[in-house]
Amino acid sequence: MPSPRTKVKRHPERGDYERETIEAILDEALICHLGFIVNGQPFVIPTIHARDGDMLYIHGSPGSRMLRTAKQVVDVCVTVTLLDALVLARSVYNHSMNYRSVVVLGRAHELTERAEKLHAMRRVVEHVVPGRWDDARQPNDGEIKGTTILALPLSEASAKVRSGPPIDDEADLSLPVWAGLIPLALEPAEPVPAEGVHGPPPAYAAKYERA
Ligand SMILES: Cc1cc2nc3c(=O)[nH]c(=O)nc-3n(C[C@H](O)[C@H](O)[C@H](O)COP(=O)(O)OP(=O)(O)OC[C@H]3O[C@@H](n4cnc5c(N)ncnc54)[C@H](O)[C@@H]3O)c2cc1C
Repeated sequence: MPSPRTKVKRHPERGDYERETIEAILDEALICHLGFIVNGQPFVIPTIHARDGDMLYIHGSPGSRMLRTAKQVVDVCVTVTLLDALVLARSVYNHSMNYRSVVVLGRAHELTERAEKLHAMRRVVEHVVPGRWDDARQPNDGEIKGTTILALPLSEASAKVRSGPPIDDEADLSLPVWAGLIPLALEPAEPVPAEGVHGPPPAYAAKYERA
């Protein structure tokens, strides 16, 4: 059920509050945007997220204003967007995009225990490149201490999904204008080895894909 703050008003039929839908979008997206207010000025900053059950982790440098602000238990808004297609209608007015998006509202708290920070760091790495954590060097104490990690509960969240063809006005259907979808997808290219690296990339890099 949506809260009064998360109820989608425009095209309410596109609103989806099922946990399964929200989690699937958060898990597929590589980045989110975190919105917060400092001295009355809103900022919306792109960053990496990872979901762990009903928590969303946001991590980064202790010097980051985004994290310094969000850890003060202030209201934040996290948004995630997956773009699926450009929607070309017969009329300019009815052009659109097919998308799956999530908005999360709430207050984050900072993780301070070494074990929970390490666990969250693992979730972030595995969110971006599943299989990578066990292959790469693990974070040392300095790196763990030097990383701020916030956890935002997914208790107040909404998804919105547009799919399907363009929706033209009846009167426009006979116009000699091409209409339809241009599907878009995130396609990884060939991995590029760093200098000094020999041998083929691991399977999770060679066959990288977002589920
Ligand atoms: C790729 C993309 C392109 C879009 N292009 C446009 C555009 O050009 N013009 C336009 O007006 N709108 C566009 N939208 C839709 C836009 O995100 C809002 O849904 C829309 O502005 C209407 O918001 P509202 O008044 O219903 O909700 P608001 O009153 O703004 O929000 C109420 C609550 O609804 C929920 N909500 C609203 N929108 C979303 C969403 N997208 N995903 C998840 N939860 C949501 C949130 O919980 C929010 O707190 C686009 C969305 C995407 C993802």
